[in-house]
Amino acid sequence: QLLEIKLERLEGWQTKFPEDLDMYRQGILDDTTWSSDLEKHTAEIAPWVWHHRGRADILYEQIQSEEPKTRRDALAEMAQLKIPLNFEPRANASFVVLIRNKELKDFLPTISQLEQRFNHKFHYPYLFLNDKPFSQEFMQKVAASTTSNVTFARIPLDHWSMPDFIDPDQALQARKQMGANHVAYGGSLSYRHMCRFNSGFFYKHPLLQNVDWYWRVEPGVDFYCDIDYDPFLFMQRNNKMYSFVVALEEIEETIPTLWEHTLEYMLKNNVTSDWMSYFANRDGDYNLCHFWSNFEIASLRWLRSDAYEAFFKYLDEAKGFFIERWGDAPVHSLAAGMLLNRKQVHLFNDIGYRHEKFARCPDLSNAGLERRCQCPKDIDNFDNSKGSCLPQWKSLASIEWSNRDSKEALRLVRERRRYAEG
Ligand code: GDP
Ligand code: MN
Repeated sequence: QLLEIKLERLEGWQTKFPEDLDMYRQGILDDTTWSSDLEKHTAEIAPWVWHHRGRADILYEQIQSEEPKTRRDALAEMAQLKIPLNFEPRANASFVVLIRNKELKDFLPTISQLEQRFNHKFHYPYLFLNDKPFSQEFMQKVAASTTSNVTFARIPLDHWSMPDFIDPDQALQARKQMGANHVAYGGSLSYRHMCRFNSGFFYKHPLLQNVDWYWRVEPGVDFYCDIDYDPFLFMQRNNKMYSFVVALEEIEETIPTLWEHTLEYMLKNNVTSDWMSYFANRDGDYNLCHFWSNFEIASLRWLRSDAYEAFFKYLDEAKGFFIERWGDAPVHSLAAGMLLNRKQVHLFNDIGYRHEKFARCPDLSNAGLERRCQCPKDIDNFDNSKGSCLPQWKSLASIEWSNRDSKEALRLVRERRRYAEG
């Protein structure tokens, strides 16, 4: 019976190039990977879904091509990989949620909004990560909130520890000092582990090794509008690597030397950019702008690239994750500024979102979009508020940032530091 369904779909799928279809059929009809569960897109039941999803999407585009060779090559590859023709294009992607057991009650409304607004149609899997074991209650209640695949996993210990090159006493003194100065999370060690983990480790988790894209979700966030298309595929098809919804200024006390280290790294490694100027003010200093990483849809391949890894390692060895309190958001942002083109970074302007006291509600009326936004009446749209870096982003022009710019900025920053230190 399954075979019949499959045949029917094959017949119904495309009558434009029947001779291609025959070729495809010969390659695939004896395959046993088909299961009705494919329709639920559950990765573990249909292994090709997991391993070839990203490729499948590209092939799927190609088999619609007018160019016979492109079409045939793509069909042959699909047959070989046993990718069904009735495949609904989707990305090789997963939600990633770093979370603690005690945040369950904050997370349940978040996942229910995410499902209702987006994922009940798209069925992307969730990966939950924790430095401690998840409780039964946590796993049961979360699993009951979605029909998609959910996985709960521990973080490897060495992804959540102080490296040898950090002096624990010095780190403790730094925490005490920042705590006494009332810097947000300044006294917290676990917060620092979290920021370092999100900067340099989550994408190395064994369960993400075959995954190309992630969407980071935090407990307590709201999604105000429907998302009726697949943002992962949008990223993939438009050659985007990193995306955001909120851009804002970082708390200066948490990153006193991050900019300096970034400039040094750029100089040492000859890194130039077409938009690093977005992050610099007129004095060559960091303008504190960064993309808020509690919402993030981005490429895991990019984070796993040698270039990103080298930058992370450099920062890690500069000790700022423990001696200062570097957040993963400015780290991701500056890495994007250095390593990506301006066009590879995308603002999902049509996503309504709230994390803590910063919310944004898109005005979609002009675009003629029916996204059923439900923004609370009393929210201020942060996009236009002081502290938002969205206006700069929207007016950003591509300006080449050369080694000379890095050098000059570094000179100015160091000069000011010497002056301040007397
Ligand atoms: P904020 O958004 O900067 O205020 O920081 P949060 O407290 O929201 O933490 C950021 C993310 O990391 C959230 O998803 C938290 O659930 C998660 N998180 C923070 N600290 C820990 C921790 O010690 N263990 C685990 N498992 N998750 C954490
Ligand atoms: Mn948060």
